[in-house]
Amino acid sequence: MDKQQILDLYDWADGVCFRHPGRGEVLTTVVGVIHPREDREREVRACADCVIRMEDIRREDAARSGSAYEPGRLGEALR
Ligand SMILES: [Zn+2]
Repeated sequence: MDKQQILDLYDWADGVCFRHPGRGEVLTTVVGVIHPREDREREVRACADCVIRMEDIRREDAARSGSAYEPGRLGEALR
């Protein structure tokens, strides 16, 4: 699976990447939701570079632990 195929699994919209806030509004997708104790829930958004990196890490983890790797599920994993 190439990078574009992985990116196509996500829905993209303008937002601020949680690891690259200095870049301002870029194309991002939701990779998680945080629930601050006294605040409403907030989406965690990541840019394409970060999604690819996170998918790489998940693929390596899956290979190490012998479990199946399925791309396109970053948001679900953190929920
Ligand atoms: Zn990023």
